[in-house]
Parts: sequence; structure tokens; C-alpha cells
Amino acid sequence: MTRTTPGEAFGGFAATTMTEPRLFRGTSHGPLLDFFDHTATHGQLPTPDLAALISWCEAAKLAGRGGAGFPVATKLAALPPRRRPVVVVNGTENEPASQKDRVLMGLAPHLILDGAMVVANATRASRVVVAVHDPALAEHLRVAARQRPDGGRLTIETVRGGFVVGEARALLRALAGGPPIPPGRKSLPTERGLGGLPTFVSNVETFAQIALLARLGPAGYASVGTANEPGTTLITVSGGVARPMVAEIAIGTALGSVLAAAEAGPPASIVTGGYHGTWLQTRPEMPLSRAGVKSVGGSFGAGVVMVVDGATCALGELKAATDWLAAESAGQCGPCMFGLPALAADIGAMLRGDLSRVKVAQRHAAAVTGRGACAHPDGAARFVNSALGVLGRELEMHGRHGGCQRPVLGRLPVPHWAKQQGHQWRR
Ligand code: SF4
Repeated sequence: MTRTTPGEAFGGFAATTMTEPRLFRGTSHGPLLDFFDHTATHGQLPTPDLAALISWCEAAKLAGRGGAGFPVATKLAALPPRRRPVVVVNGTENEPASQKDRVLMGLAPHLILDGAMVVANATRASRVVVAVHDPALAEHLRVAARQRPDGGRLTIETVRGGFVVGEARALLRALAGGPPIPPGRKSLPTERGLGGLPTFVSNVETFAQIALLARLGPAGYASVGTANEPGTTLITVSGGVARPMVAEIAIGTALGSVLAAAEAGPPASIVTGGYHGTWLQTRPEMPLSRAGVKSVGGSFGAGVVMVVDGATCALGELKAATDWLAAESAGQCGPCMFGLPALAADIGAMLRGDLSRVKVAQRHAAAVTGRGACAHPDGAARFVNSALGVLGRELEMHGRHGGCQRPVLGRLPVPHWAKQQGHQWRR
């Protein structure tokens, strides 16, 4: 991959640090590709045993960065003893509103591979697989792997698939040569994952955080962030902003500072957590942490903030996003396959002024919740319900006039809009 400035390399998303850089350390002039430069920047990589790694993750309250925020220590401890697991690094990033994993893989591939090796060494893993969508990023990671003394243990795989392949079980199925959709039954990867083996699967940023923790130790790691959510994290800010960005922030940074850094216009509302996340009224004082976003009814997800400003038709944005969510159903669970298009049709009717469909949509959302083999319908229902709770004024305008006379500007970057904006969507 050519050494370009981060903003050029990643579809116009500027890589920004709003704290003392950790994940982005040494990347201010472009990707930190060379293994020797990387080691000179970050230092030698410790090799803790499993008990030490679990206790460090516990002490640092390290949570996964893929969306669910699952405690890393719990996942490590769930691996059965005396069986050699597989380690899977999930770099598929199928959330259209998130760019942080692509940017991190591009800028700091060795930090991610370091984290994978820390887990592999601690668990005596038989294989380490890194899964990505983008063939160019896969090649980039292969180049990085070839530079490393431990690179022979790494396999970089390209997987295809839609939104739901980001779900761990769908990814493992795709890696095993199956369809890139979740299996119909619930199963725990830590018990039965890739090739039937216990599997530790987590998001690329989680592995980079593990590499930081191994070097900093729990106390050093917790020197920024909040007491309950130590450390830094990556967020993707897009929508009605002049400067779309992937920013490394100290967890707990106020939303207002992030919006100012992204040069956001006055936001009418925001969406946090992506397309399985929530619409919220903008509260500049809201801390960007799982607890901070949850305290106002939102979800942090994979660190997504989308700004919906007053220039766009917010209901039209909701309709485009819900159409896309419906299209991304894997089509194997009835309530998801039929319920999500019904939800999208309800929003289409509201857009044309039929507010009787608000209650119908709420019924449809309730009917799909908890009825799928994966969390897709629940996430879509949460997204729509929260929008209906926030967009009261817009609904009233559409009810009264059959529209709001604003264009739909594509502030929510579903792939249709993303292509027009030149983002790097690869399926
Ligand atoms: S709930 Fe939807 S997306 Fe998830 S497995 Fe079933 S059909 Fe596929």
C-alpha cells in the first residue's frame, strides 16, 4: 500500500488523535508499516501466560471493541483448558458507518498482529487467522506478517458477505467455507468455533488494545479513560460534518469536543452505535463511553457517531437506512425476512404523511425483536424505535404537509450513499 496521508488513504476519513496517541502512536506522517519502526515506537512485546493475561484484562476492565463490549477476560477464561484454540481477528467491519478498523489496519497493522500473538502465545493457539473484506487491506496485512519473526503463524483471509458476516458465528462459518450468515442455532465460539475447535474471536481494535495493555500494564493502561472504562478508543464520526474522521479519544471525552473537532454544523440529532444503534437528541456534555451513552438511552456499539443536521430530511434518512437493514437480512428467519421490509414500508408511509403507521411500525418492531437467530432484527428494531422517539417534529411536519421539503442528503452512509461519496465499500 502506498504511503499516503491517512486522510487520503481512507476514503476521506482523517485519522485524528484527541488524546496522547496510543493506537495511532507514530502514525502522524502515515502508516507505521515497518516492523522495526513499529518495535522502536512501541517497544518489545511481552509474552504473558494465560493467567497473567486474564488478570491484566480484568484489572484494566478491557472490553471488546467490536460493538457488544464483552469483557475480554471473561472470553479468555471461557476457553476450555487443555485444548488448543484458534485465534480469529475480525477485521470485516461490516458496519457501514464505521471506518475505524480499516483505518487502524491501514495505519498500525503490527499493533493488531502483536495483540493476536499475545493471545496466541498465552492460549497456545494452534492457528491465528485474520479475516478482512478488502483484498487491498488483506495484502497490506500479508506484507506486515512477512516482516515479522512470528509471521509464519499468521494466515490472512479475505471473506465476502453482507452486514451480518461481521457477527462472530457468521464469520466463522464463512471462514470454514460455508455461507457468510449466522448459523440457525446459538453456539459459543469459545466452545465450538472454527473447525469445531474452541475459538477466541474478537475485533481488530480489541487485539490492538491487548497489545497496548501487555506493554503498559493495567495501571499504565488505566491512566486515561474513566474508572470503569479505562483507556482510549476509536470512534468514527460522519454525516453532517465538514471533517469526517476516525479519532482516538480518551474514553469519556465529551461529545461536544468530538463534534467540534469534526466541524459539525448544528446537529438536529445524532445516531450512536451504527445501524444497530440509537437515535438521540444531541447532548454536547454526553461522555463518549458505554456508560455515558447508555445513561441517555443510547448504545455506544463500535464507536460510531453520525450527525443528522437540519439540512436533510431525517425521515428520508431513516427510510434509506431501514431499507438497507431489511435488504441485509440473511433471509433464513421468517420474522427477520418479512418483518424488516414491513418496518421499512411503514416508514415509507410516514414519509408520505401517514402517521397512523407509527403505531404499526412499533408493533412490527416488537414482533421482530428476539425472533432471529442473530441480533440483526433486534438491532434494526432498536434503530427504528429510537428514531421514532426522537423525530417527533419531523413526523409532525410530514403528517401535516406530506413532506418537509428538505432533500435526503445521505447523512447516514448506507452503502448506496457511500458509493456516491466515494467511500471504500467492498463487498
Ligand atoms: S435473524 Fe435475520 S440476519 Fe440473523 S440469521 Fe436470521 S435471517 Fe439472518
